[in-house]
Amino acid sequence: MDSSMIGKIEKAMFYAREPERIHFDKFVAVVQGDHKPHQVSYAHGEWTCDCKFFYGHGVCSHIMAMERILVSSVTPADVSYTMDSGIIGKIEKAIMYAQERERITIQSFEARIQGDHKQHQLQYNQGVWSCDCSYFHSRGVCSHVMAMERLLMDAVETAEAIPLPA
Ligand SMILES: [Zn+2]
Ligand SMILES: [Zn+2]
Repeated sequence: MDSSMIGKIEKAMFYAREPERIHFDKFVAVVQGDHKPHQVSYAHGEWTCDCKFFYGHGVCSHIMAMERILVSSVTPADVSYTMDSGIIGKIEKAIMYAQERERITIQSFEARIQGDHKQHQLQYNQGVWSCDCSYFHSRGVCSHVMAMERLLMDAVETAEAIPLPA
């Protein structure tokens, strides 16, 4: 591993500890529920899920699980519910889903990350990453991508680094 890559890994660890640097604009994720998988979509603060509970309540365990994982990098779902026992059960489930990361697969996203000098635009689609920084263009990975990998863990595939020419 070359020294420039080590520097990027150190930076990624630093960025991932400051999730307020990361803002998701859009994403699509699949959360494996107890019975079947559900698709959660997010676009500019608007959440949707294809489960039945979502249609009655505007939130569900699948959305709450994603909120727990993405913390301050998404706008929380707009909920106008009263705290009924149904919701409490969903919160408990969301905590469990967020801990069991193998349940969550992110299919695509668009996000921005605040680097040291400027903001960078990141995209992910079915395992393919891109970032608008120059390091990514030459090496296929960068501190911004690695920070996202740390945040999302098993929910995304890792980017493949381009080796330095011999
Ligand atoms: Zn749902
Ligand atoms: Zn980058």
